[in-house]
Amino acid sequence: MTAWSTAQLTEYFVAVNAAGSEEAAIALAVERAAEIVEAEIGLVVLGGRPRGAWGFGGAAPERDLLALSSAGGIVDIPGLGDVHAVPSQLGSGLPGALILGRLDEPFTPEERQTLQGMAQMLGAAMRGARALAAEQTLRADRERETRLVETLLAIQRGIVSRRPLQETFDAITGGAAELLGDAYVALILADPAPRVASSAGGVGPGDRPGNAARAAMDTGSLQVDEDEQGHAVIAVPVLVTGEIAGSLVARAGDAAGYHADQLEAFAQQVGLALTDARTVELVHEAHHDHVTGLPSRALFLKAFNGRPRAGVLFIDLDRFKAVNDSLGHDAGDQLLADVAERIRGCVRVGDTVARLGGDEFAVLLGDAHRDTAVATGERIIAAVREPFRVKGRTVYIGASIGAALPGADGNGSPDELLNCADLAMYRAKQDGPGRVVVYEPAMHAAALHYLSLRADLQRALAEGEFGLVYQPLVRLDAGSVVGVEALLRWNSPGRGIVAPGEFLPIAEESGLIADIGQWVLASSARQVAAWRRRRPGLTLNVNISGRELVRPGFVEDVTRTLAAAGLPTNAVTLELTESVLMSDPKPAVLALSRLRARGVQMSIDDFGTGYSSLAYLRDLPVDELKVDRAFIARTQLTGRDMALVSTIMELGHILGLRVVAEGIENQAQLDAVQRLGCSLGQGFHLHRPLDPAAIPPLLESPSLHRAA
Ligand code: C2E
Ligand code: CA
Ligand code: CA
Repeated sequence: MTAWSTAQLTEYFVAVNAAGSEEAAIALAVERAAEIVEAEIGLVVLGGRPRGAWGFGGAAPERDLLALSSAGGIVDIPGLGDVHAVPSQLGSGLPGALILGRLDEPFTPEERQTLQGMAQMLGAAMRGARALAAEQTLRADRERETRLVETLLAIQRGIVSRRPLQETFDAITGGAAELLGDAYVALILADPAPRVASSAGGVGPGDRPGNAARAAMDTGSLQVDEDEQGHAVIAVPVLVTGEIAGSLVARAGDAAGYHADQLEAFAQQVGLALTDARTVELVHEAHHDHVTGLPSRALFLKAFNGRPRAGVLFIDLDRFKAVNDSLGHDAGDQLLADVAERIRGCVRVGDTVARLGGDEFAVLLGDAHRDTAVATGERIIAAVREPFRVKGRTVYIGASIGAALPGADGNGSPDELLNCADLAMYRAKQDGPGRVVVYEPAMHAAALHYLSLRADLQRALAEGEFGLVYQPLVRLDAGSVVGVEALLRWNSPGRGIVAPGEFLPIAEESGLIADIGQWVLASSARQVAAWRRRRPGLTLNVNISGRELVRPGFVEDVTRTLAAAGLPTNAVTLELTESVLMSDPKPAVLALSRLRARGVQMSIDDFGTGYSSLAYLRDLPVDELKVDRAFIARTQLTGRDMALVSTIMELGHILGLRVVAEGIENQAQLDAVQRLGCSLGQGFHLHRPLDPAAIPPLLESPSLHRAA
């Protein structure tokens, strides 16, 4: 259960919060909680009265069930028999509990902990709903809830993607500190001796927060105290499968009171992160590769600190893939571990060996002279060339190595050095394999390629080499085409069809994107205006790069272009990626707002791949979210992956945005996104990007056309 509890809790929390009314929140909570722990019955008892009873088949719950709301135990339900029941208190200010009952099995400590978390979240949602009813607090509360959800989501993402535990802790204290009105928030962990694992926020630590934290750890319950300056101090216990593992303590700043329920929600996240970490030994894994025990790339780059003269060897194994493919991943892992051991045996004390991923390793050379770098590289190649025994077999592999040394003036960031060593390694592979090649500035083949592409690109527009394909946007329930997204293609005489991923970055860097973007908008607008004579409601989505958006005159150009094409502004949606909005938000947001004031709609493309905060989204003039296809692919998975996708979709709905699922590649994904309540989609399974001539037939018939 621990494997998916965080994701499910977040999903549950988002749903319960979105319920709108207290009654709806209770009904939803009871039903979902019962589903998650596979309980036969469930209800909430509030002020001695049953609410949202579920699974009783219409009959009113027994009086003794109400008594269970404080104690728990076994109770005889008419028509069902003996039921194990467990009550979980709703939290401060709400005299009641969420009670679930199961026929066969008593609840495990993990389940009790999860239920406790759910009850607290329900309590928070109910208090939220009540507060909502009160006119003057409506706005502030909504914002705090959204921020709470947003913060919890970010933390959950961190846990799911196995961020280092410390980062998760810092996100939790940081998030709590901000939400509690710049309180000082500290996380104290009990094991092995009580220590502050992370802290954040305004007013510094006094002595008393320690007292409250100790009391919370001793009693396992919420503690309220006051420090010498009269600031409120609250501490809640952090529980890991029912045991007290530490405490989260907050000392309110001057500005605000405190919200115990929110602090409890954060403590819950700490508990889940710790549970997760215990299961997968997350701490080590985050910094070290578990196959070889070597430092990861991130730790490797840190090892450069204070070593300006360090050099790098970039090692790539030859023929590793063949072993991995033929003998299996276990064999591959064992081989990697053995290789790591041999590499370690070739370097000097003070050098650092790391695994960069796949079959790539790196060595940081503490003192990098060209001769030592080459000699070390050759020792490694010789060592790796010796046979390995894997799963009772003898296998032979090899290594190619690129070396990069710091410049004469000692500059060159660790990243740059690593890149140079990588380039040199490519040359070693081409010339070799089984060689050491030292990086030379002349190796900038990539730069040459760049320059030639750029030169060709410069002529492409004038030569009429650009074209557009259109990918239909489909209303999933009806299968009908409601709009099209224009996608750029470059038909280069020397290279054939070039995909935008290859040339757009160059067009952006060189500023050519402005003219290209103008052309895309003008041609696609004319095209869609023509199609609209057959299908009046048809809409157009156009991709915009960040460079275009902040260009002076962009807003006027867009308006003028659409008017000239005879396409109403409200038929057009501009797609932008999160990174555009995050990098230099002010001018971008200004341009967006001005365009939106003229009726043009805005979409966030590849949503979920960047780091836009929800608070940020709420303030942006945005109408649509396009959920990145990486997430759609995950809908085929189960458990927390699925929960993450549904959380993202629900968040979109909560913010009142149109949600589009991108990159639907098969029927299973189509079914999944529809189940998640997504009504619009795009993808190869629906339609590939098509030549303009292929679009009109799709507009005639409302039925679903499938790509071959
Ligand atoms: P995007 O906006 O996310 O466009 C969707 C991309 O995913 C397209 O690639 C499309 O062919 C591909 N795709 C659609 N359905 C599926 C699917 O089911 N599976 C898979 N694997 N892929 C699918 P394309 O055309 O190569 O475009 C790549 C990116 O280039 C676009 O990503 C967009 O960011 C950018 N781009 C394309 N045209 C323009 C343009 O006119 N202006 C600007 N600024 N960017 C453009
Ligand atoms: Ca797009
Ligand atoms: Ca996209």
